Amino acid sequence: MALNYVEVNTDLCKACRVCVETCPKHCLELGSEINALGYQAVRFDSTECTACGLCFYVCPEPGVLTVIKGVDS
Ligand code: SF4
Ligand code: SF4
Repeated sequence: MALNYVEVNTDLCKACRVCVETCPKHCLELGSEINALGYQAVRFDSTECTACGLCFYVCPEPGVLTVIKGVDS
């Protein structure tokens, strides 16, 4: 089964943690890298993502998160 995942445009993230707190599967966390804006950007690390889209909808910064639904080939 192909896995769902979330692409993070790290240089646009302002580390507000809203997506981290919202994800029901705990797929997102703040990373250790400091981005171009000076924030500790979010990173995605999970095999449990359901591609529900909640993180995308709650993020206040346009273009940071893109939810990719895994498709079986
Ligand atoms: S799409 Fe849903 S399950 Fe996947 S990271 Fe975002 S909130 Fe979590
Ligand atoms: S909600 Fe958006 S801006 Fe806030 S931490 Fe998550 S990805 Fe970054």
